[in-house]
Amino acid sequence: MLLLIFWDSSAPAGLGLPVSRMVSELTGTEVRVCPSPVILNGYVGSRHQTDARAVIDSIDLLKHRQSLTSPVLLFCGTDLFIGESSSVFGLARPLTGSAVVSMARLCNSYYGRDDNDDDLLDRMVKEGAHEVGHLLGLDHCCDPACIMHNPITLDDLDRKRKSFCPACREQVAIRSFRVDTIV
Ligand SMILES: [Zn+2]
Ligand SMILES: [Zn+2]
Repeated sequence: MLLLIFWDSSAPAGLGLPVSRMVSELTGTEVRVCPSPVILNGYVGSRHQTDARAVIDSIDLLKHRQSLTSPVLLFCGTDLFIGESSSVFGLARPLTGSAVVSMARLCNSYYGRDDNDDDLLDRMVKEGAHEVGHLLGLDHCCDPACIMHNPITLDDLDRKRKSFCPACREQVAIRSFRVDTIV
């Protein structure tokens, strides 16, 4: 089974292919990237943010309408929140195979630092692979260097390596979407 990566027009177009390729390598999953057909519902004007759960609902609705059975990971540039949280880097709904990653707070410029494409690419890959890990059924990991560690701050995210710890890597290998094609 393929992982579909939906690339919203609010995310930097040039990073779609490298991010997808690296997420594919890290998770052992076949990936296809395409412009996102999802309309991003859930914008809350008073917060200047979008409800991540509403975005996942929109992905689920599109998958239902188009009878898509593949898991979907959407990248967008819109700042996301859930409930009372100030913001989230991403969200996954393993039950329906839908996930979203926002690059709004992955840019150096958001924190008053000089922008750097390599930093942004690194963070998008880590967050993308993290959400794919959730779609594969993995929970958060206590190893601060593992992709499945839950980052609260940008520094937490930068401390993570672009790899799974041995225990998580084993789970990814067992549960990888690629397994489905062997049956
Ligand atoms: Zn997580
Ligand atoms: Zn781990």
